[in-house]
Amino acid sequence: MKKALVLGAGGFIGHHMVNRIKGEGFWVRGVDLKYPEFSETKADDFVIGDLRDPKFCRYVIDQGFDEVYQLAADMGGAGYVFTGDNDADIMHNSAMINLNVLNACYKRNIKRIFYSSSACIYPEYNQMDPESPKTSEDSAYPAQPDSEYGWEKLFSERLYLAYHRNYGMKVRIARYHNIYGPEGAWCDGREKVPAALCRKVAMAKIKGEGFIEVWGDGKQTRSFLYINDCIDATLLLMRSDWTGPVNIGSEEMVSIDELAHLVMGIAGVNLDIRHIDGPQGVRGRTSDNRLIYKMLGWMPKFSLREGLKKTYLWIESKVNNQFA
Ligand code: NAD
Repeated sequence: MKKALVLGAGGFIGHHMVNRIKGEGFWVRGVDLKYPEFSETKADDFVIGDLRDPKFCRYVIDQGFDEVYQLAADMGGAGYVFTGDNDADIMHNSAMINLNVLNACYKRNIKRIFYSSSACIYPEYNQMDPESPKTSEDSAYPAQPDSEYGWEKLFSERLYLAYHRNYGMKVRIARYHNIYGPEGAWCDGREKVPAALCRKVAMAKIKGEGFIEVWGDGKQTRSFLYINDCIDATLLLMRSDWTGPVNIGSEEMVSIDELAHLVMGIAGVNLDIRHIDGPQGVRGRTSDNRLIYKMLGWMPKFSLREGLKKTYLWIESKVNNQFA
């Protein structure tokens, strides 16, 4: 039986990853500071602990896993990452995790490891125009990410690539672009914009309010990838002969106001949008999928509307439970 290790298995993507590879017949160990919040893990073994601790890393990386998915990070949406208030924690915690995990894998002679980087590594100067942001993989340098979160990801990409070059590890690196779906953070301050808008619309609906608040002028653009597509692409990359780094995202770019209207349409309400000050990140960003299509023949299956509908219904049921 093949064995996989999922680090960050209590988080959004890690939990979905565990479920998927369990379904493929793997024996799976999950590791995290916490259990998944919204449904029980299917991992055969789930170890609670802190990957910043090198001893703990050696303890959980105690055998030869066929596949290691490194998804643990100190992470959140704009309200967590772009205020600047959490920069020291974000850089220290995530860098420690990556340094320890990668070295423990090397010492155990584990070859195949996936690292989840981010679209946040791309330079701010290429993302000033909301209509035509540039995120081709080769545009990462000269580097100028707009957040410390992005700088840590770029450092860790280089760390993984160095282990690949020097020690022959089969490292796989994806730059995720705004992954969303059911069972993600939706109201703990770490939620990202699709979940936040779904929650705001569901709350306005239940309270009978006529408006929602949106951070910024609503003209900033993004694209969003549904979780099932993210897992498909990650597995395809992991099992390919190619290291990356590569974008895993959607090219369906919308403004934040358009996203809000999409959510309202799904919810069957028409609310005013009040624009307020708030952290926003870059003006425009969308995935450039030319490279992943060329190398792996991958493109997303879920449209934004389909994915949002599933996500909205999940969040609406949470909001209804809270107010029941
Ligand atoms: P998440 O916050 O839901 O999951 C990360 C998990 O890591 C959490 O459960 C957290 O408890 C765990 N963790 C943090 N510090 C830890 C520590 N010291 N020891 C053990 N576990 C620890 O985030 P996610 O959305 O599932 O993202 C997974 C990965 O993908 C992260 O590396 C993230 O930076 C990257 N990524 C995600 C997105 C996205 O849109 N979701 C976009 C780009 C990159």
